[in-house]
Amino acid sequence: TIKAYAMKIDFDKYADGLVPAVIQDFNTHKVLMLGFMNREALQKTEESGKVTFYSRSKKRLWTKGEESGNFLELKSISADCDQDTLLIKAHPTGPVCHTGADTCWSERNHSEDFLTYLEDIIRLRRQAPPEKSYVARMHEKGINKIAQKVGEEAVELVIEAKDNNPDLFLGEAADLLFHYLLLINAKGHNLQEVIEVLKKRHSE
Ligand code: AMP
Ligand code: ZN
Ligand code: ZN
Ligand code: ZN
Repeated sequence: TIKAYAMKIDFDKYADGLVPAVIQDFNTHKVLMLGFMNREALQKTEESGKVTFYSRSKKRLWTKGEESGNFLELKSISADCDQDTLLIKAHPTGPVCHTGADTCWSERNHSEDFLTYLEDIIRLRRQAPPEKSYVARMHEKGINKIAQKVGEEAVELVIEAKDNNPDLFLGEAADLLFHYLLLINAKGHNLQEVIEVLKKRHSE
């Protein structure tokens, strides 16, 4: 157990008895949202394992996900240098922001997260009319065709690796990566699952 409420959090530092709680994704390390906690909220968070705030607008304890079902499963709690701010690591069971974005600071085409953004696009385009969407057309052809295409793009990359044209090499590298995402998605998986496998190997 985490027992952070036994930690000396300085709930009396500010008149309202609230301290800010930064919520960070345990796996991806993304900052997900910011909320406020009083003593009761922190205690409930620990006892239930679900991140619970004191909502200044609702004026009551608010368990994130109580309506949406998108809970934040508690992983760890720590206090900052002077015990007046909490850092809570959690596992989100769904999109964290009420807008449906995965974080409250999602810029949907931010480059560091571009592959995740591209995955979302691929998922959406699968339902598009095939005459308008390459993703939908590939999806219609089925997994074997997509897998074959990954193989072809890999061979094209190998060929460009022997040459010295950086534009062609990068172009084929992008083709491969794109079709690789298509295949993972068609198989019902996502990039994060692949990353988890790599991380596990890394720690073994
Ligand atoms: P939820 O706790 O996810 O069931 O959402 C309940 C309500 O809380 C929503 O209708 C929003 O008004 C608010 N809310 C949900 N998520 C957030 C968030 N990340 N930041 C601020 N308010 C939120
Ligand atoms: Zn501080
Ligand atoms: Zn939000
Ligand atoms: Zn190619």
